[in-house]
Amino acid sequence: MTDLTQCVLNPVVSSEGFDPLGVAIHRGSTIVFKDAAAYAARGERGHQGYSYGLYGTPTTRTLEAKLTALEEGAWTFLAPSGQAANILAILPFIAAGDHLLMVDSVYPPMRDFAQTDLRRLGVEVDYFDPLDAEDVAARIRPTTRMVWCESPGSTTMEVIDLPRIAEIAHAHGALVGLDNTWATPLNYKPLRHGADIVTEALTKFVSGHSDVLMGSLTIADERLIASIRAQMGRFGIGVSPDDASLVLRGFETLGVRLRHSERVALEFARRLAAHPLVDQVLHPALETSPGHAIWKRDFLGSSGVFSIVFNKTVSDRVSAALDAFRLFAIGASWGGTRSLVAPMPVARHRSVTPWTRPDVVLRLSIGLEDEAELWADIERFLQALEQLPG
Ligand SMILES: *Cc1c(COP(=O)(O)O)cnc(C)c1O
Repeated sequence: MTDLTQCVLNPVVSSEGFDPLGVAIHRGSTIVFKDAAAYAARGERGHQGYSYGLYGTPTTRTLEAKLTALEEGAWTFLAPSGQAANILAILPFIAAGDHLLMVDSVYPPMRDFAQTDLRRLGVEVDYFDPLDAEDVAARIRPTTRMVWCESPGSTTMEVIDLPRIAEIAHAHGALVGLDNTWATPLNYKPLRHGADIVTEALTKFVSGHSDVLMGSLTIADERLIASIRAQMGRFGIGVSPDDASLVLRGFETLGVRLRHSERVALEFARRLAAHPLVDQVLHPALETSPGHAIWKRDFLGSSGVFSIVFNKTVSDRVSAALDAFRLFAIGASWGGTRSLVAPMPVARHRSVTPWTRPDVVLRLSIGLEDEAELWADIERFLQALEQLPG
């Protein structure tokens, strides 16, 4: 072999005895086959085998397997963002003339997808009241292919009666998908409660460091594998092993991070609920939060994210008062080590359950900073809220 050829070919070295705890990053678009027959038969390797980098590497398979186990599902696919995972959970199963039911408290980009893309493709979309499962029974049609859920709802935190909704949907031959980003697979197991597909924005708590975007969809039944896999292939959607490795690293500490954040968040939520400037704290573990009884029945814990509705007298000043925060950073997304705050409009994202309360709801994501210093920061903000000119 000449030097030129040797430069291209990689020598095979032994990995015998090298057993690290971390997961190796396997980069690869091309996967080579030992002979022509193996190449010709590559389609028979199935969803578990390797045929091309887009369809998975040992790194991404490791993350998929971890999620499949925690979600108690049959298989998991990874997507480049939580939003992409949500779309891939719906699109393979719906066509022109079909009907989709979506929860009214859905993550706003999903409503945008439904209103813009699904409608353009000839899909009819209706929304249902997150707090009334019978509203699903009233709105479901013979053409309904999927009921799309999120629990608790984005920003407003309504917990839905998934078992009842799944019962209604399945009686009509519709699939049920649920976005489980808030609780993570540690604190809610939607497939146990009747969902056919569960999605996660791994971007948030699971990766946990605000530096990577990824989503997952886990299915309850192997029969859904082929449609999703083929749809992803036609769209050319896969994730990089480097990103998967970041998510795998964050995943190892999810349990302790989440337990800490949920404890501190609940403590702060309780204190805030008693504050004179606060009208309501939206946090499923509070007795006064919508759907609390269902949360208590179905969930295994809460999360580090909750929202505050302020009294009408001060709600106009919330945005201006945000500048008083020194530790909480102002920004979208959540679930990282750093505590975040974001003012969220709600009314424009509603169809069947109008939002008539002050239309800036403050969302807090509790990170890993010192608890007392975080609370002092919240007090600084509350003081500014009180003292700013109305
Ligand atoms: C953030 C979020 C998403 C989207 O995740 P990205 O990875 O940012 O696309 C989806 N659903 C919920 C509930 C979210 O909070």
